[in-house]
Amino acid sequence: MPSLAITWAQRLKRVFNIDLETCSECGGAVKVIACIEDPAVIRKILAHLDAKAASPGTRLLPESRAPPQAGLFEEPHYSNDQLQ
Ligand SMILES: [Zn+2]
Repeated sequence: MPSLAITWAQRLKRVFNIDLETCSECGGAVKVIACIEDPAVIRKILAHLDAKAASPGTRLLPESRAPPQAGLFEEPHYSNDQLQ
């Protein structure tokens, strides 16, 4: 009789559409290389990632800025005299 059990990765994919079994970069198969369960170690890792994300050199997105001035990008206007 086949097992009806599914892995936690299969469950995440089914319920939340989060695919942990396929690499988002290359499409290759991903495997678990470590399972960290010690809360102290988890807090230490998350604190490190927070600090890394907060440093200015590692931003993934550019700083937000105001929209460009529309007047700088308007089509040039030519009079009929210039077109003849
Ligand atoms: Zn990959």
